[in-house]
Amino acid sequence: MSFNDSALKFERHPIQTDVVIVGAGPCGLFQVFELGLLGLKAQLVDSLKAPGGQCVELYPDKPIYNIPAVPVCTGQELTDRLLEQIKPFGAGLHLGQEVTHVERQENGRFKVVTSAATVFDAGAVVIAGGVGSFQPRRLDVPGASEVEGKYLHYRVKDPRAFADQDAVICGGGDSALDWAVALVEHARSVVLVHRRPEFRGAAATVQKLYALRDELRADVMIGQVKELSVVDGVLKSASVLGGDSVVRRVDVDQLLVFFGLSPKLGPIAEWGIEINKKQLSVDTEKFQTSVPGIYAVGDINTYPGKKKLILSGFHEAALAAFAIKEYLEPGKKVHLQYTTTSPLMHKRLGVADEATAEERKAAGAR
Ligand SMILES: Cc1cc2nc3c(=O)[nH]c(=O)nc-3n(C[C@H](O)[C@H](O)[C@H](O)COP(=O)(O)OP(=O)(O)OC[C@H]3O[C@@H](n4cnc5c(N)ncnc54)[C@H](O)[C@@H]3O)c2cc1C
Repeated sequence: MSFNDSALKFERHPIQTDVVIVGAGPCGLFQVFELGLLGLKAQLVDSLKAPGGQCVELYPDKPIYNIPAVPVCTGQELTDRLLEQIKPFGAGLHLGQEVTHVERQENGRFKVVTSAATVFDAGAVVIAGGVGSFQPRRLDVPGASEVEGKYLHYRVKDPRAFADQDAVICGGGDSALDWAVALVEHARSVVLVHRRPEFRGAAATVQKLYALRDELRADVMIGQVKELSVVDGVLKSASVLGGDSVVRRVDVDQLLVFFGLSPKLGPIAEWGIEINKKQLSVDTEKFQTSVPGIYAVGDINTYPGKKKLILSGFHEAALAAFAIKEYLEPGKKVHLQYTTTSPLMHKRLGVADEATAEERKAAGAR
């Protein structure tokens, strides 16, 4: 069990809940729904600033084709639909804070603490932490830490902030290529720096970038940034070591680095749960970890035959919800009820009136 002293020093009055869900990726979001159908309240926490996990952080605009009954939707659309679906259950959403500490208390309940000193008192915990907390792979050269956040960025919040700026973008994947092409419309100059002539991103975007270079609207340099020149805290230029061993200085106002995100299991590894190759071992009946009362769904868990797919995580969330209901209310029989026909489900979903109106309409038609 980990202790984050700085967080605990300022900890607030605990939020009482049935379940804390660590991670607001697709599986964490759907977990709220499955718990809600069984009448259990949940609080969601994610270290990212937006819900959606990998779908939003890594591929918001890319189409997903294997969600049952949804022939195609983007990562962002899937997240928006899940958020819509869980609305009736009023789960608390605590973003931009990492769960740092999970501890079973003497009364069997769990004390859960975040990096923002939010404290929960929960009956059970579901870890839906995916591949862990995402951390951008950083540019590790002299001058970088001095300008991070002001002149060196690992994500673009608003492309308009690059207006009239000399932008240098590092990386060879989709993010670097997409932003290089997009920022041509905003920045004064755009230079993409990549260590090899081959790119990992979409061929069409590479072509677009080279077309922009031919029109003298962007440039591509093969090499690696080795040093940043910073004067009075302001980024001035980057030294790029080329494949030909020549170092070239490039003027830069804003530097964007897209070296990918490296997932870190982070504090989850310190909660005393059995870990198998950076994943949490669970059983396939309850999706419970080695610690009773702590469950794991989605990419973070492992069991024989596990496939890291969103639909697998949805199934796991459904079974985990039934197991948690039994764990929190032992001995109480939990009946499987259909959302189509059960008045209790309609009540929990907040559609009781609509459902009754539909029934009346159907009866009138008979
Ligand atoms: C490029 C790409 C394309 C893909 N395409 C498909 C596809 O077409 N179909 C498909 O089924 N799957 C696809 N996947 C896989 C799919 O995205 C994952 O299976 C899915 O995102 C797993 O969901 P999750 O909720 O388990 O975890 P994640 O989406 O990883 O979300 C986990 C969340 O937990 C948070 N977290 C972790 N630790 C903590 C902590 N201590 N405190 C607070 N928050 C924490 C993280 O910040 C993250 O937001 C794709 C993946 C990639 C990378």
